[in-house]
Amino acid sequence: MAASGRKQFQGASSEVVRDINRRIVLNLIRTRHPISRADLARVSGLQRSTVSLIVEQLIEERWVLEGPTGRLPRGRRPTFLRLNDERVIIAVDIRPTQTTVALADANGKFISQEIIATASDPKVTIEGLIQSILRLIKSSRHKMIEGVGISLPGRYDHKVDRLVFAPNLRWSEIDIRNPIVQATGLDVEVENAANACVLAAVWFDHMEECRNLVVVTVSEGIGTGVWANGQLVRGLNGMAGEFGHVPLDPNGPPCGCGGHGCWEVFASNRAALRHYFEYSSESSDLTFLDLLSRAENGDKRAAKALETMAHYLGRGMRMIVAGLAPERIILVGELTRAWHRFGSIIEGEVADQVLPGGCVPCLIPAYEDGMARLRGTVALIMQKDFGASVTS
Ligand SMILES: [Zn+2]
Repeated sequence: MAASGRKQFQGASSEVVRDINRRIVLNLIRTRHPISRADLARVSGLQRSTVSLIVEQLIEERWVLEGPTGRLPRGRRPTFLRLNDERVIIAVDIRPTQTTVALADANGKFISQEIIATASDPKVTIEGLIQSILRLIKSSRHKMIEGVGISLPGRYDHKVDRLVFAPNLRWSEIDIRNPIVQATGLDVEVENAANACVLAAVWFDHMEECRNLVVVTVSEGIGTGVWANGQLVRGLNGMAGEFGHVPLDPNGPPCGCGGHGCWEVFASNRAALRHYFEYSSESSDLTFLDLLSRAENGDKRAAKALETMAHYLGRGMRMIVAGLAPERIILVGELTRAWHRFGSIIEGEVADQVLPGGCVPCLIPAYEDGMARLRGTVALIMQKDFGASVTS
């Protein structure tokens, strides 16, 4: 079907131009829907006839749906176009204690969600994940599944399909992708959690006009995802962005990476809890969210622990600002729920060390409630069809 649709374009222009035009139209429908053919032509600058041909092809391929009909002055009634929400993506977020498996449509709307335990043995988790994905496939028979996007708290080398670094997950080097491809028959893409958050910002929050941004994820550890010159930076072996494991104090506490005094042992959620217990003899299995609510309820030690964490976050970010000069730094994590305790301290620490000629980037808390990683995995799968090429 797609092949015969494409034939209509032959002779009109080269294949490359045709593909570029198709991506332009598809992306405009994605970001501006509902949109009429006339508006697509106006916004894209393409000929009305070219737009119509591309739209017919996209409808034939079931990427795009028509309707509803709009009303304009002078009696014209354009038909609006939108992405087909029967095209779905399976989004997976693996975290040290739990793994979320969700179903999202092409517009990034989540339809269902299941949580399974993350086992210390990666093979057990992968098997549980496969079973969960197979259940989703069974219950989505009438939908078109585009693929499985997986976010991981670690670095994944795409060239050799191996998890190469995951100190908070403590998994050995393992191929996560191929066992899932073989068991499900679906296209599977794996990405670092902070990189997934970069894709979510660029794809769904329309930050693509910002050519230099960094995402800092703060949870059990600290991850960073780097978007430089309009491209995701993966580096050799997929290891780029490990600012969390640069030592701020080589005599500091031990870190999961084997080093001492890394940024994350001073500024992660786990670090805040350690700061808290340093100020008291109490010991318990308090969580970071408990700490936030204790601070809100007037516990001065809790407030002090969070303040210490905020200072260290800002000091560590100086490395990012000096090294990459981003326009924006997006913070992802539970700390954004108490941004009044963090924002100004972090900004003050960064501003204290800005180099002559440098700027303090805009600090943006991502009020995402745990969804940024999942949204990023949706973008990871979708971008292949839309040709945004952000991960090439
Ligand atoms: Zn470390």
